[in-house]
Amino acid sequence: MTYGRKVFDLRRRLAGVVDTRRAPQTSAALVAAAVFYTGLLRIRSFNALEPRLREKPFLRLVGAAPERLCLCSVDTLGRSLSQMGLDSVRAVLVEMVHKAERNKVFREGWHGALRYVAIDGWEPFSSRHRHCSECLVRRVSVKDKDGTIRTVPEYYHRYAVALLIDERFDLVVDIEPVLPKDLRPLVVKGKGPTARLVKASLDEGELTAATRLIKRVKRTFGWIDVVVGDALYANGPFLTTLDSLGLAGVIIARKEHEEPLREVLHLWKDQAPHKIVEDDKAHERIALWDCRDLETLSTYEGKIRCVRGCVTRLRRPDDPPSTWCILVTGKATRLAPEKVLAVARARWHIENTGFHQWTTRWRLGHVFRHHPDALRSLFWLFFAAYDLLTLFQYLQLRSYGRDCGNNVTRTISRLIDQMLDELACWQHLTWDTS
Ligand SMILES: [Zn+2]
Repeated sequence: MTYGRKVFDLRRRLAGVVDTRRAPQTSAALVAAAVFYTGLLRIRSFNALEPRLREKPFLRLVGAAPERLCLCSVDTLGRSLSQMGLDSVRAVLVEMVHKAERNKVFREGWHGALRYVAIDGWEPFSSRHRHCSECLVRRVSVKDKDGTIRTVPEYYHRYAVALLIDERFDLVVDIEPVLPKDLRPLVVKGKGPTARLVKASLDEGELTAATRLIKRVKRTFGWIDVVVGDALYANGPFLTTLDSLGLAGVIIARKEHEEPLREVLHLWKDQAPHKIVEDDKAHERIALWDCRDLETLSTYEGKIRCVRGCVTRLRRPDDPPSTWCILVTGKATRLAPEKVLAVARARWHIENTGFHQWTTRWRLGHVFRHHPDALRSLFWLFFAAYDLLTLFQYLQLRSYGRDCGNNVTRTISRLIDQMLDELACWQHLTWDTS
């Protein structure tokens, strides 16, 4: 608590959250604090939170005691969440990342002293019953009791997520929902005098949402240098967008029959590896091929570098090596080929530490309130809690982590258990974090 307040001015950040309710008895700032701590303490639902809204330790935590005996109902929390000013609630997360940057947390950068953001799609939940105006929908097959198979609509939300990655930890920097067709901007159909504006016929793709996201990320965090993405992003228009934003790209490529991979694989067909790296720490031997200045992708005007890495695990020599092909643009082209591979492999952070942990540990798969803006606001607050805990764990609690073994996820869970236990006795700011 002291760390959050002293280092990140958490109280003031949460106090800046507003909503559009008229003369509410419980301010949006108190609601935001309650939701933030629900995330931090991994309280599994608003039902589980309800009794705490009348308990002194929780009221002290959110800054409502001793004036109040009860914060509000969970319905009020939901109503406030769905009416929160999106910029005001996103600012809690944004300011935390800005502050970490000002405090030189990322000072050294990572490979090549560059700052990397991984981008990916994330689907926190789906439902056959409840839906809202921003739900995407797909048809799925279900089997009835009598064995007949029919298709029913399944509603879900999908987000593009941007995660700052480095060798120590990953921080969420922003999210953007993938929009259903009804909410997409109108498109121009036809040409000349017969041109007209029509509704989009399909839900938006992840790429469109991710493009919106990455533009906002660069506007907000000008110091980010490189975007790391999976094969979905290996296309000319996306690489062109990165160029126009002054961002470099490290993007996995899989389509062997499409440019520029087709050309370069042909070129490398009979070539021995250009470089072999032995990594004693990871017990790996890495064979690398490297080709610069490819210009065969017609939808991209710049030059692309392509790196292929073949990783053999020395302790399991019978396993087939895993192969990665990576497209590199912009200033990331200055990296050594083994560094390019290390960055691309780190993209798996986003799936392993990020997505897996969020749904298994952070209750992000639980629908606290099914409303488009309530979901955005809740995720931004939960991710602010995730970032704060991550920074605290890696920058302040290093010895605690060592004492608890090397399972990071379990260490965090133990820490939260202890925080919950100690909540009841927590009266004042007593920890010295200097
Ligand atoms: Zn929905």
